[in-house]
Amino acid sequence: MRSPILDYLDGIIAGTDHVDSGALADYIPELAAADPDRVAVALCTVNGTVYASGDTDDRFSIQSMSKPFAYALAIEDRGLEDVLERVGVEPSGEAFNELSLDPETGKPRNPMINAGAIATHALVKRDDAAAVDRILALFSDLAQRPVGIDEALAASELATGDRNLGLAYLLHASDQLGHDPAAAVEGYIRQCSASVTVRDLALMAATLANGGVQPNSGLRLFSRRNTRHVLSVMASCGMYDAAGDWLTSVGIPAKSGVAGGIIGVLPGQVGVAVFSPRLDAHGNSARGVVMMEKLSEDLGLHLMEAG
Ligand code: GLU
Repeated sequence: MRSPILDYLDGIIAGTDHVDSGALADYIPELAAADPDRVAVALCTVNGTVYASGDTDDRFSIQSMSKPFAYALAIEDRGLEDVLERVGVEPSGEAFNELSLDPETGKPRNPMINAGAIATHALVKRDDAAAVDRILALFSDLAQRPVGIDEALAASELATGDRNLGLAYLLHASDQLGHDPAAAVEGYIRQCSASVTVRDLALMAATLANGGVQPNSGLRLFSRRNTRHVLSVMASCGMYDAAGDWLTSVGIPAKSGVAGGIIGVLPGQVGVAVFSPRLDAHGNSARGVVMMEKLSEDLGLHLMEAG
Protein backbone atom coordinates (compact mmCIF):
# COMPACT_ATOMS: atom_id res chain seq x y z
CA MET A 1 0.00 0.00 0.00
CA ARG A 2 1.20 3.49 -0.85
CA SER A 3 2.19 5.39 2.29
CA PRO A 4 0.08 8.47 3.18
CA ILE A 5 3.40 10.23 3.80
CA LEU A 6 4.06 10.07 0.04
CA ASP A 7 0.67 11.67 -0.66
CA TYR A 8 1.52 14.33 1.87
CA LEU A 9 4.88 15.04 0.15
CA ASP A 10 3.16 15.15 -3.28
CA GLY A 11 0.92 17.81 -1.70
CA ILE A 12 3.96 19.83 -0.60
CA ILE A 13 5.15 19.92 -4.22
CA ALA A 14 1.70 20.71 -5.67
CA GLY A 15 0.99 23.31 -2.97
CA THR A 16 4.15 25.30 -3.74
CA ASP A 17 3.81 25.17 -7.53
CA HIS A 18 2.96 28.89 -7.61
CA VAL A 19 6.31 29.88 -6.05
CA ASP A 20 8.43 30.85 -9.03
CA SER A 21 10.29 33.82 -7.55
CA GLY A 22 14.06 34.01 -7.37
CA ALA A 23 16.77 33.36 -9.93
CA LEU A 24 19.37 30.73 -10.73
CA ALA A 25 22.84 31.28 -9.29
CA ASP A 26 24.71 32.83 -12.18
CA TYR A 27 28.19 33.36 -10.78
CA ILE A 28 28.96 29.72 -11.66
CA PRO A 29 28.18 29.34 -15.42
CA GLU A 30 27.21 25.65 -15.12
CA LEU A 31 24.60 26.46 -12.45
CA ALA A 32 23.10 29.21 -14.60
CA ALA A 33 22.33 26.53 -17.20
CA ALA A 34 20.27 24.37 -14.79
CA ASP A 35 16.57 23.61 -15.41
CA PRO A 36 14.86 26.01 -12.95
CA ASP A 37 11.65 23.97 -12.74
CA ARG A 38 13.05 20.82 -11.24
CA VAL A 39 11.67 20.23 -7.76
CA ALA A 40 11.91 17.49 -5.13
CA VAL A 41 11.39 16.80 -1.44
CA ALA A 42 12.48 13.89 0.75
CA LEU A 43 12.43 12.98 4.38
CA CYS A 44 14.19 10.20 6.25
CA THR A 45 13.31 9.00 9.73
CA VAL A 46 15.98 8.09 12.27
CA ASN A 47 15.06 4.45 11.47
CA GLY A 48 16.36 5.01 7.94
CA THR A 49 13.07 4.96 6.01
CA VAL A 50 13.14 7.46 3.13
CA TYR A 51 10.00 9.05 1.63
CA ALA A 52 10.45 11.21 -1.46
CA SER A 53 8.38 13.03 -4.08
CA GLY A 54 9.05 15.02 -7.26
CA ASP A 55 12.30 14.73 -9.21
CA THR A 56 13.66 12.42 -6.56
CA ASP A 57 16.45 10.86 -8.61
CA ASP A 58 17.66 14.06 -10.28
CA ARG A 59 21.22 14.88 -9.34
CA PHE A 60 22.47 18.34 -8.46
CA SER A 61 25.56 19.66 -6.71
CA ILE A 62 25.66 19.59 -2.93
CA GLN A 63 27.40 23.00 -2.74
CA SER A 64 27.30 24.48 0.75
CA MET A 65 25.30 21.58 2.19
CA SER A 66 28.71 19.85 2.14
CA LYS A 67 29.98 22.28 4.77
CA PRO A 68 28.45 20.80 7.95
CA PHE A 69 29.66 17.31 7.01
CA ALA A 70 33.20 18.42 6.15
CA TYR A 71 33.18 20.38 9.43
CA ALA A 72 32.10 17.27 11.34
CA LEU A 73 34.90 15.28 9.68
CA ALA A 74 37.51 17.93 10.55
CA ILE A 75 36.34 17.84 14.18
CA GLU A 76 36.50 14.03 14.26
CA ASP A 77 40.03 14.25 12.80
CA ARG A 78 41.46 17.06 14.94
CA GLY A 79 39.25 17.39 17.99
CA LEU A 80 36.88 20.24 18.65
CA GLU A 81 39.37 22.47 20.43
CA ASP A 82 41.86 22.49 17.58
CA VAL A 83 39.15 23.27 15.05
CA LEU A 84 37.74 26.07 17.22
CA GLU A 85 41.19 27.64 17.26
CA ARG A 86 40.97 28.08 13.49
CA VAL A 87 37.28 28.70 12.82
CA GLY A 88 34.72 30.47 15.07
CA VAL A 89 31.05 29.67 15.71
CA GLU A 90 29.45 33.12 15.56
CA PRO A 91 26.84 34.04 12.94
CA SER A 92 28.37 36.58 10.58
CA GLY A 93 25.22 38.35 9.40
CA GLU A 94 27.09 38.72 6.10
CA ALA A 95 26.71 37.12 2.68
CA PHE A 96 28.19 33.63 2.29
CA ASN A 97 31.12 34.79 0.18
CA GLU A 98 31.92 38.02 2.02
CA LEU A 99 35.61 38.93 1.93
CA SER A 100 36.02 39.34 5.66
CA LEU A 101 37.47 37.65 8.73
CA ASP A 102 36.69 38.44 12.39
CA PRO A 103 38.77 41.61 12.99
CA GLU A 104 39.49 40.63 16.62
CA THR A 105 40.62 37.05 16.09
CA GLY A 106 41.61 37.05 12.41
CA LYS A 107 39.59 33.81 12.08
CA PRO A 108 36.63 33.09 9.80
CA ARG A 109 33.52 33.71 11.89
CA ASN A 110 31.99 30.29 11.28
CA PRO A 111 32.40 27.17 9.09
CA MET A 112 29.19 27.74 7.10
CA ILE A 113 30.45 30.82 5.24
CA ASN A 114 32.99 30.24 2.49
CA ALA A 115 36.04 31.55 4.40
CA GLY A 116 35.31 29.14 7.26
CA ALA A 117 34.51 26.27 4.91
CA ILE A 118 37.80 26.68 3.01
CA ALA A 119 39.70 26.74 6.34
CA THR A 120 37.72 23.68 7.45
CA HIS A 121 38.46 21.80 4.23
CA ALA A 122 42.17 22.43 4.87
CA LEU A 123 41.80 20.92 8.37
CA VAL A 124 40.53 17.54 7.12
CA LYS A 125 43.44 15.09 7.50
CA ARG A 126 45.03 13.83 4.33
CA ASP A 127 47.27 11.01 5.61
CA ASP A 128 46.38 8.36 3.09
CA ALA A 129 44.11 10.21 0.65
CA ALA A 130 43.38 13.76 -0.51
CA ALA A 131 40.96 15.60 1.80
CA VAL A 132 38.33 15.68 -0.95
CA ASP A 133 38.55 11.91 -1.40
CA ARG A 134 38.02 11.41 2.32
CA ILE A 135 35.04 13.78 2.16
CA LEU A 136 33.56 11.88 -0.81
CA ALA A 137 34.02 8.60 1.08
CA LEU A 138 32.15 10.17 3.99
CA PHE A 139 29.31 11.33 1.70
CA SER A 140 29.12 7.78 0.31
CA ASP A 141 28.91 6.32 3.83
CA LEU A 142 26.20 8.84 4.69
CA ALA A 143 24.14 8.27 1.53
CA GLN A 144 24.88 4.53 1.33
CA ARG A 145 25.89 4.70 -2.33
CA PRO A 146 29.04 5.90 -4.15
CA VAL A 147 28.86 9.70 -4.40
CA GLY A 148 30.98 11.26 -7.17
CA ILE A 149 31.90 14.69 -8.47
CA ASP A 150 30.19 16.58 -11.30
CA GLU A 151 33.44 17.34 -13.13
CA ALA A 152 31.93 19.85 -15.58
CA LEU A 153 30.54 21.85 -12.68
CA ALA A 154 33.81 21.68 -10.73
CA ALA A 155 35.72 22.95 -13.81
CA SER A 156 33.18 25.74 -14.29
CA GLU A 157 33.43 26.87 -10.67
CA LEU A 158 37.23 26.61 -10.63
CA ALA A 159 37.44 28.82 -13.72
CA THR A 160 35.36 31.49 -11.98
CA GLY A 161 36.59 30.95 -8.41
CA ASP A 162 38.50 34.22 -7.92
CA ARG A 163 36.47 35.25 -4.89
CA ASN A 164 37.14 31.99 -3.07
CA LEU A 165 40.81 32.26 -4.04
CA GLY A 166 40.80 35.79 -2.60
CA LEU A 167 39.37 34.42 0.65
CA ALA A 168 41.99 31.67 0.81
CA TYR A 169 44.84 34.14 0.28
CA LEU A 170 43.36 36.38 2.98
CA LEU A 171 43.35 33.40 5.37
CA HIS A 172 46.89 32.51 4.33
CA ALA A 173 48.06 36.09 4.91
CA SER A 174 46.72 36.02 8.47
CA ASP A 175 48.29 32.57 9.08
CA GLN A 176 44.92 30.84 9.38
CA LEU A 177 45.14 28.32 6.57
CA GLY A 178 48.21 26.15 7.10
CA HIS A 179 47.88 24.98 3.52
CA ASP A 180 48.53 26.13 -0.04
CA PRO A 181 45.64 28.53 -0.83
CA ALA A 182 45.06 27.41 -4.43
CA ALA A 183 45.05 23.71 -3.45
CA ALA A 184 42.64 24.38 -0.56
CA VAL A 185 40.23 26.19 -2.91
CA GLU A 186 40.44 23.46 -5.52
CA GLY A 187 39.65 20.81 -2.89
CA TYR A 188 36.84 22.91 -1.44
CA ILE A 189 35.27 23.46 -4.88
CA ARG A 190 35.45 19.75 -5.64
CA GLN A 191 33.80 19.04 -2.30
CA CYS A 192 30.97 21.43 -3.30
CA SER A 193 30.63 19.71 -6.71
CA ALA A 194 29.63 16.33 -5.27
CA SER A 195 26.53 15.21 -7.11
CA VAL A 196 23.56 14.16 -4.95
CA THR A 197 19.78 13.60 -4.94
CA VAL A 198 17.24 14.64 -2.31
CA ARG A 199 17.19 11.00 -1.16
CA ASP A 200 20.95 11.13 -0.50
CA LEU A 201 20.55 14.41 1.35
CA ALA A 202 17.68 13.15 3.49
CA LEU A 203 19.84 10.19 4.57
CA MET A 204 22.75 12.52 5.29
CA ALA A 205 20.52 14.79 7.36
CA ALA A 206 18.98 11.77 9.13
CA THR A 207 22.45 10.70 10.25
CA LEU A 208 22.79 14.04 12.04
CA ALA A 209 19.26 13.61 13.44
CA ASN A 210 20.34 10.18 14.67
CA GLY A 211 23.25 11.51 16.76
CA GLY A 212 25.92 10.68 14.16
CA VAL A 213 24.96 7.06 13.38
CA GLN A 214 23.94 6.29 9.79
CA PRO A 215 20.50 4.75 10.31
CA ASN A 216 20.73 1.97 7.69
CA SER A 217 24.31 0.77 8.18
CA GLY A 218 24.46 1.44 11.93
CA LEU A 219 27.91 2.96 11.31
CA ARG A 220 28.86 5.70 13.79
CA LEU A 221 30.30 8.47 11.59
CA PHE A 222 30.38 11.30 14.17
CA SER A 223 30.33 11.26 17.96
CA ARG A 224 27.12 12.39 19.69
CA ARG A 225 28.87 15.43 21.13
CA ASN A 226 30.34 16.50 17.79
CA THR A 227 26.98 15.98 16.08
CA ARG A 228 25.32 18.23 18.67
CA HIS A 229 28.00 20.84 18.06
CA VAL A 230 27.58 20.76 14.27
CA LEU A 231 23.78 21.02 14.56
CA SER A 232 24.13 24.02 16.87
CA VAL A 233 26.33 25.78 14.32
CA MET A 234 23.82 24.93 11.56
CA ALA A 235 21.03 26.42 13.68
CA SER A 236 22.80 29.73 14.17
CA CYS A 237 24.77 30.07 10.91
CA GLY A 238 23.36 27.62 8.33
CA MET A 239 21.15 30.00 6.38
CA TYR A 240 23.68 32.79 5.95
CA ASP A 241 22.34 36.29 6.57
CA ALA A 242 18.79 34.84 6.72
CA ALA A 243 19.66 32.67 9.76
CA GLY A 244 17.45 34.65 12.15
CA ASP A 245 14.44 34.59 9.82
CA TRP A 246 14.91 30.88 9.33
CA LEU A 247 15.20 30.00 13.02
CA THR A 248 12.05 31.91 13.86
CA SER A 249 9.95 30.65 10.94
CA VAL A 250 11.19 27.07 10.33
CA GLY A 251 12.98 26.50 13.61
CA ILE A 252 15.36 23.61 12.84
CA PRO A 253 19.10 23.40 12.13
CA ALA A 254 19.56 23.62 8.37
CA LYS A 255 21.97 24.27 5.54
CA SER A 256 21.33 25.54 2.05
CA GLY A 257 23.39 25.30 -1.15
CA VAL A 258 23.46 27.55 -4.22
CA ALA A 259 22.34 24.74 -6.54
CA GLY A 260 18.96 25.00 -4.77
CA GLY A 261 19.08 22.32 -2.09
CA ILE A 262 18.29 22.76 1.60
CA ILE A 263 18.68 20.15 4.34
CA GLY A 264 17.01 20.37 7.74
CA VAL A 265 17.45 18.24 10.84
CA LEU A 266 15.05 17.61 13.70
CA PRO A 267 17.28 15.90 16.29
CA GLY A 268 16.02 12.48 17.35
CA GLN A 269 13.33 12.48 14.66
CA VAL A 270 13.94 13.18 11.02
CA GLY A 271 16.19 14.54 8.28
CA VAL A 272 14.54 16.58 5.52
CA ALA A 273 15.79 17.71 2.10
CA VAL A 274 14.23 19.94 -0.54
CA PHE A 275 15.42 21.02 -3.98
CA SER A 276 14.38 23.84 -6.30
CA PRO A 277 17.07 25.83 -8.14
CA ARG A 278 15.73 29.43 -8.04
CA LEU A 279 17.40 31.38 -5.21
CA ASP A 280 16.19 34.30 -3.12
CA ALA A 281 18.30 37.36 -2.34
CA HIS A 282 20.18 35.50 0.42
CA GLY A 283 21.21 32.66 -1.91
CA ASN A 284 18.69 30.18 -0.41
CA SER A 285 16.21 28.26 -2.60
CA ALA A 286 13.06 30.42 -2.74
CA ARG A 287 10.59 27.54 -3.21
CA GLY A 288 12.72 25.36 -0.94
CA VAL A 289 12.25 27.82 1.92
CA VAL A 290 8.46 27.79 1.38
CA MET A 291 8.44 23.98 1.25
CA MET A 292 10.42 23.84 4.49
CA GLU A 293 8.08 26.34 6.17
CA LYS A 294 5.11 24.14 5.26
CA LEU A 295 6.82 20.96 6.43
CA SER A 296 7.76 22.62 9.71
CA GLU A 297 4.25 23.94 10.29
CA ASP A 298 2.41 20.75 9.27
CA LEU A 299 4.69 18.27 11.01
CA GLY A 300 5.37 20.42 14.08
CA LEU A 301 9.13 20.45 13.48
CA HIS A 302 9.87 23.83 15.11
CA LEU A 303 12.29 23.25 18.00
CA MET A 304 10.84 26.06 20.07
CA GLU A 305 7.33 24.59 19.93
CA ALA A 306 6.18 23.38 23.36
CA GLY A 307 5.04 19.75 23.51
N1 GLU B 1 30.71 26.38 -4.02
C1 GLU B 1 29.92 27.56 -3.72
C2 GLU B 1 30.84 28.73 -3.45
O1 GLU B 1 31.87 28.54 -2.86
C3 GLU B 1 29.09 27.27 -2.52
C4 GLU B 1 28.19 28.40 -2.12
C5 GLU B 1 26.87 27.96 -1.57
O2 GLU B 1 26.38 26.88 -1.83
O3 GLU B 1 26.27 28.75 -0.84
O4 GLU B 1 30.57 29.83 -3.84
